[in-house]
Amino acid sequence: MSVKLTSELLQLQDLDNQISLMERQINNLRSLPKESEELLSMRSRYGEAAAKAQNLNAAIAKNSQNEAALTKKVSQLHNKIYGGQIGSSKELQALQLELEDCRNRLSVLQEQILEDMEEAEQLAPLLPKLQIELENAERSSRRDANKIQRDIAKLEGNIKDLREERSRQLQLLDQPKLYAYNNLYVSKNKRAVAEVKDKRCGECMAQLTETKINELYKNKLIFCDVCGRILALRRAAPEQ
Ligand SMILES: [Zn+2]
Repeated sequence: MSVKLTSELLQLQDLDNQISLMERQINNLRSLPKESEELLSMRSRYGEAAAKAQNLNAAIAKNSQNEAALTKKVSQLHNKIYGGQIGSSKELQALQLELEDCRNRLSVLQEQILEDMEEAEQLAPLLPKLQIELENAERSSRRDANKIQRDIAKLEGNIKDLREERSRQLQLLDQPKLYAYNNLYVSKNKRAVAEVKDKRCGECMAQLTETKINELYKNKLIFCDVCGRILALRRAAPEQ
């Protein structure tokens, strides 16, 4: 039992590295934009088209009112001029000028209405199409967001399990080892423990003396002379 304890540190480091990797994955998932580029662009395209249609309809309604008023005025002027009740030629001339002006304005107005109606007609089939595309983009964005939430929940569950395993692992370690591990884990950038392979330090590849190897088998806290890491032999886990 006692000769196997040095591998507990490696297992602890594996656990810590897995936890840290999963925490990074969760952070990455959380920092993803909430809405996709596609959705944002679809929403603005639909919004622009809908606003344009609304503006066109408002303009058509307003211009149609003006058109009706002008048509009425043209008809009144026409009746006045040709009603035979106008005395002076000056008054007649003024009325004729006014009539001409009203007819010109009417024709401009009618042209504008026609133009707006044509544009509104072109826009009409586009709007429902854009709306369907927008709804699809929203649905797919919601699906993506749900998937991200599920992935995060799964990672959090895994981390919880790993932390429980870590607590069990800590109970297998004595204080000096844990102390050395905690210090080196930070200063050696998450590689506090070096696995011994072929009598070399697995991190810096320094050759180890027979004395060190023997002490490792006695489960002592041994450091690499070159890189300063804790040396460990990876062995089968102790029987539960
Ligand atoms: Zn080393």
